[in-house]
Amino acid sequence: MSNVLRATLLSLFGSLAFGCASPGPPATTATPSMPSTPSTPSTPADLVISAGVVRTMDPAKPRAEAIAVRGERIVFVGSAADTKAFVGPGTRVVELPGRAVVPGLVDGHGHLYGLGVALETLSVRGTKSAEEAAAVVAEAAKARPRGEWITGRGWDQNRWPGAAFPTHAPLDAAAPEHPVALRRIDGHALWANAAAMRAAGVGKDTQDPPGGRILRDAAGEPTGVFVDNAMGLVEAQIPADPPAVRERRILRAAEEALSSGLTGVHEMGIDDETVAVYRALAAAGRLPIRVHAYLAGEGRLEGLGGRAPDVDATGTARFVLRGVKLYADGALGSRGAALLEPYADEPSTKGLLLMDREALARAARLVADAGFQLAVHAIGDRANRAVLDALEALGPGRAAALRFRVEHAQIVSPDDLPRFSALGVIASMQPTHATSDMPWAPARLGAHRLKGAYAWRSLLSSGARVVFGSDFPVEEASPLLGLHAAVTRQDLAGQPPGGWMPAERLDLDEALLAFTAAPAYAAFAEGQRGRIAPGYVADLTVLGRDLSPVRSLVDTPIDMVVVGGRVARAPAPP
Ligand SMILES: [Zn+2]
Repeated sequence: MSNVLRATLLSLFGSLAFGCASPGPPATTATPSMPSTPSTPSTPADLVISAGVVRTMDPAKPRAEAIAVRGERIVFVGSAADTKAFVGPGTRVVELPGRAVVPGLVDGHGHLYGLGVALETLSVRGTKSAEEAAAVVAEAAKARPRGEWITGRGWDQNRWPGAAFPTHAPLDAAAPEHPVALRRIDGHALWANAAAMRAAGVGKDTQDPPGGRILRDAAGEPTGVFVDNAMGLVEAQIPADPPAVRERRILRAAEEALSSGLTGVHEMGIDDETVAVYRALAAAGRLPIRVHAYLAGEGRLEGLGGRAPDVDATGTARFVLRGVKLYADGALGSRGAALLEPYADEPSTKGLLLMDREALARAARLVADAGFQLAVHAIGDRANRAVLDALEALGPGRAAALRFRVEHAQIVSPDDLPRFSALGVIASMQPTHATSDMPWAPARLGAHRLKGAYAWRSLLSSGARVVFGSDFPVEEASPLLGLHAAVTRQDLAGQPPGGWMPAERLDLDEALLAFTAAPAYAAFAEGQRGRIAPGYVADLTVLGRDLSPVRSLVDTPIDMVVVGGRVARAPAPP
């Protein structure tokens, strides 16, 4: 290459000077080769962050002091002194003494849209009168356009004066121009206002449906409360959420995720309408975090052949629809998880497979043939075995190549633990599920079956890839809670002493990898994200102090969040 050509290329592509414009996978072998100290950079950095410590999660250089970022990528990691060479007149310099920078934390299994819905679902729980509940509705009505449905739940007339069912009148006064539908605390009755009943066409002549009852006044007019199957008369009229509402929910939830220190979420099961809103937000540059999304698979498998998964070769996309989410069974708490042997505390049941073995095998084939990534919810040991069998039946290497994953992998027969590694199937687990379930899980399972339960260490030791998440909004979104649960296996009060089944604890670096590099792999972005190294995408989480398993992890403040080189959440003032 002539000197002239080289100089031209360098001025066009400044990062060529460091040979790291586009590092390729896989992460384990492709740490881009970089000089250990910078020569004079051809172009200054856009952003330089120096902190107390940078935990790079890069085995070649585990600790550093400062990071230089140009555009969306990291161009230098090293000492504060060496990083000064990257500071030019236009460089934003952020000095955060005492803070700790880690690769952007990613929730490997969350429901971002579901969090947005939860944030907007009104709670009237604990209200002491119908009027107090109506006041909560009035407040919500102010923030929403006229005509938009207001839904919520949590009322309990037994806590109100007289303990009588309410009427539509207080809700009419609170929100005359919004249809309102509030579920009772137990979910078995619905309280509606006149606008909702009008929208549903419910009146004096409406018959009670089988299994349901419409409460009426002396003249036979509906009073506003619909019991059991009668709730459907009103709820069937609630329109599908329009794009503007979905967008508002996504943005609210994304802000919540950012404030928890997350730079990305694996979004577990959304419909096409929500996908379209995500795409529009990402295209407009308005999605503040990265979303690696899975289509809710039920009823959509047949159509997969006609569509293609998104491929993000640079690791910089804000929204990627790559996978499909399915359910093999239910949850342990409700005894819906499918177990190989009966429940210890209810011997008449083994739980239920939501998809039988044939259906799972067929679904796995359809998803694989379409080139999508399959993520299957499996809690019980029978469900986990059925899913592993279905993935094995795809043929050698197929599930591994497509990075198929088992969501939760919560109770696994010890015989099946090595199969995750052997098949190359990702175990996507939620450390806080263990600490939430530990008070009652032993009763459900019996001592003998706990061996393969919430077995992060056993899976890692067997060579499996373990990705961590929270399953928010089922649990809190904070990855710090997950880190705490992963390294202590204790609740927030420090119980039980020494941790629950402490042999399954991870050390802090292992747990951090499960929130950084492992979700990057599961999102086909290893070599691009999940590590602080030159050439990697600048997704960073800055903590108010260094993480330490000795000090409480959970109250470590989130100080700053950087996504793709842009400060998505500004540092707190010192
Ligand atoms: Zn979930």
